[in-house]
Amino acid sequence: MAYQISDECISCGACEAECPVSAISAGDDKYVIDADACVECGACAGVCPVGAPNAE
Ligand code: SF4
Ligand code: SF4
Repeated sequence: MAYQISDECISCGACEAECPVSAISAGDDKYVIDADACVECGACAGVCPVGAPNAE
């Protein structure tokens, strides 16, 4: 299953540059992941300061 970003996201933007397939972009109130593009590498979860990206 693709990663998703929870409401814990503080829109710091750190994850966007880490995604190897550019699946992450800024949304209205948090960053969002394109589920069709995500390859489940976990890089976003590794850099997020609040643990918002998860594979649930
Ligand atoms: Fe991008 Fe990897 Fe995060 Fe998926 S798990 S959004 S491919 S950084
Ligand atoms: Fe949101 Fe975490 Fe990405 Fe920062 S690194 S934009 S807090 S999901």
